[in-house]
Amino acid sequence: MTTMLRPGDSGYDQELAGFQTAVPRRPAVIVPAASATDVVEAVRYAGEHDLPIAVHSTGHGVGVPFEGGVLVTTRNMTGIRIDGDIARVDAGVRWGAVIEAAAEHGLAPLSGSFPDVGVVGYTLGGGFSLLGREYGLAADRVTAIEVVTADGGLRRATPDTEQDLFWALRGGRDNFGIVTALEFRLVPVTRLYGGSLRFGTESLAAVLRAWRDWAAEAPREMTSSLGMVPMPDLPMVPEPLRGQHVAQIRIAYLGDAAEGERLVAPLRAAAPVLGDTLAEIPFTESGKIANEPPFPHGYRADNATVSELNDTMLDAILEHAGPDAPVPTVVLLDLLGGALSDVPEHPGVGWDREARFTVRALSVVDDASIAEIRSAHGKLFEALKPWSTGKLLTFVYGESDPAEEAPEVYSTADLRRLAKIKKAVDPANRFRLTHNVEPASDAG
Ligand SMILES: Cc1cc2nc3c(=O)[nH]c(=O)nc-3n(C[C@H](O)[C@H](O)[C@H](O)COP(=O)(O)OP(=O)(O)OC[C@H]3O[C@@H](n4cnc5c(N)ncnc54)[C@H](O)[C@@H]3O)c2cc1C
Repeated sequence: MTTMLRPGDSGYDQELAGFQTAVPRRPAVIVPAASATDVVEAVRYAGEHDLPIAVHSTGHGVGVPFEGGVLVTTRNMTGIRIDGDIARVDAGVRWGAVIEAAAEHGLAPLSGSFPDVGVVGYTLGGGFSLLGREYGLAADRVTAIEVVTADGGLRRATPDTEQDLFWALRGGRDNFGIVTALEFRLVPVTRLYGGSLRFGTESLAAVLRAWRDWAAEAPREMTSSLGMVPMPDLPMVPEPLRGQHVAQIRIAYLGDAAEGERLVAPLRAAAPVLGDTLAEIPFTESGKIANEPPFPHGYRADNATVSELNDTMLDAILEHAGPDAPVPTVVLLDLLGGALSDVPEHPGVGWDREARFTVRALSVVDDASIAEIRSAHGKLFEALKPWSTGKLLTFVYGESDPAEEAPEVYSTADLRRLAKIKKAVDPANRFRLTHNVEPASDAG
């Protein structure tokens, strides 16, 4: 029998810990899985004891809080194999390890801004990559998913087998089972021109507009985001960024460095630059582009996909999440389009291919109460509503109301199809400790 940890057992708290520290969870049993067999045993145990079951890898995207039930942790499932341009990874693998392994073959994965994020959670949420505008979503490059469903069976979902599951898992995440391994195509990338430009509080409004206008002309090889980051006025923050509400333009460009320099020239000229890390870099250093804080903390985040970024929207973003906003908020604007708008032969669900940008808002729980954060984020996204086309589940962090969220994340037709698949593979709704899609109530 596989190891099971209960509250009070040595190792229980360590196994529960993850990057997100402010979503309380207290499962009755934690199963630290080392293999697919452990996952099968855990799911069967949950079934025999009529318990709900959840899964957790790095804890970057922890959703709803819960008490009781079974939690499977996958951090010990770390196998990676590369065969041609296909990578096969076990459930607990993080992007950093795949980036290193793929580089040995002259290849790269469609990883994101932060190499510590888990491959499976990221990919099942769509996977917005640093290379996304050229190569599309990480979920679009998946070739096979091995998953333990509520009946305790280990299934292999591909474009040709278990097609409904193959569609539902890529966007429906842990509603349908626990993924034990993922296979996906790598891309022929070893280097890029990338880094960030940083500007201070005085330049925020001008930089927002300059980036928005520049983004309209960006080629597909250019993936870019703009962050608005309140930097604390503390000695740990180096001058000249200390105490500034920084605009950070992130660049990942696949063309050559000279062309990259030419393309970013209008951004460099938009306002006085406080920090400039743009350079030709190996893909193995791509985590330095965003340079996100690596330490665990408590946070809440919400987002919207939008059809445009007009001046009214930029003013609303500055008002509700800028230097004078009541709750310190990090805003990330991601340029979509390019290959992110292409519909592949076998798409997943829950990603808006028509949207032009995402607007993400994240606030640290220590800086404000959860109620204050929800209210501040609520006002921001209400102001953006006329141009909102939906929401991406992968950038919702912390508790929220899944029933309210689902219609924003999925179209009515997709939600109906998800509910039917859910009824077929998890009629008892064993996997409900999440942004839950409930099984369809009718016989269909
Ligand atoms: C600092 C930071 C940077 C990020 N950057 C990006 C980015 O550039 N692009 C992007 O697209 N996303 C990004 N994300 C979002 C990230 O992809 C999601 O939060 C993702 O869910 C994290 O997965 P995880 O496994 O690391 O986290 P976990 O919290 O362990 O898992 C998150 C969720 O993934 C699902 N999941 C995990 N493992 C399994 C499994 N084995 N079977 C079934 N479901 C599973 C579950 O729904 C789980 O609740 C970022 C998040 C953070 C905090």
